[in-house]
Parts: sequence; structure tokens; C-alpha cells
Amino acid sequence: MRRYFYISAIVLCLAGCKGGKRENAVQTQAVTAAPAVTADAAAAPAEPVDVVLPGTPEYDATDFVLVTDVIPEAILEIRYYSTFNFVGSRIDGYEQPVALMTKESASALKKVSDKVAGMGYTIKIFDAYRPQKAVDHFIRWAADPADTLTRRYFYPDIPKSTIIPRGFVATKSGHSRGSTVDLTLFDKSKGCDVDMGGSFDWFGDESHFDYAGVTAEQRRMRNLLNKVMREAGFHGIPGEWWHFTLNNEPFPDTYFAFPNSMASVGR
Ligand SMILES: [Zn+2]
Repeated sequence: MRRYFYISAIVLCLAGCKGGKRENAVQTQAVTAAPAVTADAAAAPAEPVDVVLPGTPEYDATDFVLVTDVIPEAILEIRYYSTFNFVGSRIDGYEQPVALMTKESASALKKVSDKVAGMGYTIKIFDAYRPQKAVDHFIRWAADPADTLTRRYFYPDIPKSTIIPRGFVATKSGHSRGSTVDLTLFDKSKGCDVDMGGSFDWFGDESHFDYAGVTAEQRRMRNLLNKVMREAGFHGIPGEWWHFTLNNEPFPDTYFAFPNSMASVGR
């Protein structure tokens, strides 16, 4: 069956916003067609990387909260619930477009939100807690060389076979520990994302925090995001300007498996 790439209800940058070259390419080349997920997803290699059973500690969401209960002003663009991600379909484990995090992480992130609010920005979250089965889905996708549906949007410059070796996708993700978040800043006066000189989940050099090809203004904004996150107790990683983990994360060794849904946290 032919597969289609459907950009669902993602509202991309509005008039008056200046995105980076790559981001503009994504916006203007987006193909809209009928959503088709199930048939090909079912045909993909089926072996999960790990099997975690309900009732185990990995399913205990007691210490997690709905991020928007703590930070009502946060903007959510949960890409793995949508089809606008590198797989091109909704990711396993994402039952609702919500953001969950540990209580400690959400409280720390609230400090960031409060701080940037005074500067004219709102935080915009692409992903927070990520169920292990979602990570397993990424691995199945990365191991399938025939599936290049989203290549032009997320990895046009590298062979798909290098995605796992280069670490863009791994069998475990810090996101599954519940204290990691992918985010950017949203400019309230312009009504669009801040131009960071690169787009979320881009598999390429532009995603490196220290990428030298950004403009002075893009550098300033990357530095600002990094600074406010560090001041709130998070640390970033060199390879992704948008990715941060709480320094003293409460579950450093647990990779949770409950679904990304309101029900998981009793809401
Ligand atoms: Zn991340």
C-alpha cells in the first residue's frame, strides 16, 4: 500500500515570522493527503526492544503530573502524537497530545516559563515523558531501510543507515525517565516560534547546540534557552539544542512504560 505523509493540525509559523532555511523548506514542501497509518505500521518488524509488564514499577505514574496543570500557559505541539515527525505516523504509546513529567521536573520548568514570560516568550513543548514503547517504535523505524517517507523533511543529508550509529535514535531515551523535555521558545508578540536556526528533530549538524552556521540572533536565542534551563536546574546535550534533562532527576534508572495520556496520571 502506498503511504502518505499527512501534516495534521500542526499550525506552522505565521506570516511575519522568519524561520530558518530548513524550517521554511518544511513548511512549503509539506504534502497533504489522506492519513494512512495502520497498514504499514502493522507490516513493520514487530519485535519490541523490551517487554515491560503492567503492574511493574515502570507502570507507576504516581510521581508524574500533567505539565499543563503546573504550567497552564505552556504551548504543546506533541509531535509524536501527530504525523509531523520523522516516522510520519503517530508513535506507539502516545494516546493523547499531552505532556507528562515528574513533579520535580514540572516544577522546575515552571520557573523557566515564569522567567521567559517577562521577556515576551512562552515555552513550547514538543515532547516530555516518552513511553518505552515509543522508543521501541523509533528503533523499528530506523532499522527499516525501505521506509524513507519523511527523508526530505528530517534527514535529507544523511543515509538512513547512519541514524542509529550516529545516536539520533537509541534503544533507550532519557525521556522515558520522565525528567527530560524537548522545547523551544514562542515569541508572543510575533505569534510564532523563535528562530533557533534549526528545527526540532532535524537529523543533521544544524541541531548541534554549537553549530557554527547560525546567525548572531539565532545564537543569542539558543543561548537564552540554554541559560534559562540551566538556571532552573536542567542541563542540555551537545547534539540537540532543544533537549534538556533535570540535573537531579528522581528516577535516573527507571524507563517508564505507561501510556502518554491524562488517564495515566489520574486526570
Ligand atoms: Zn529530547
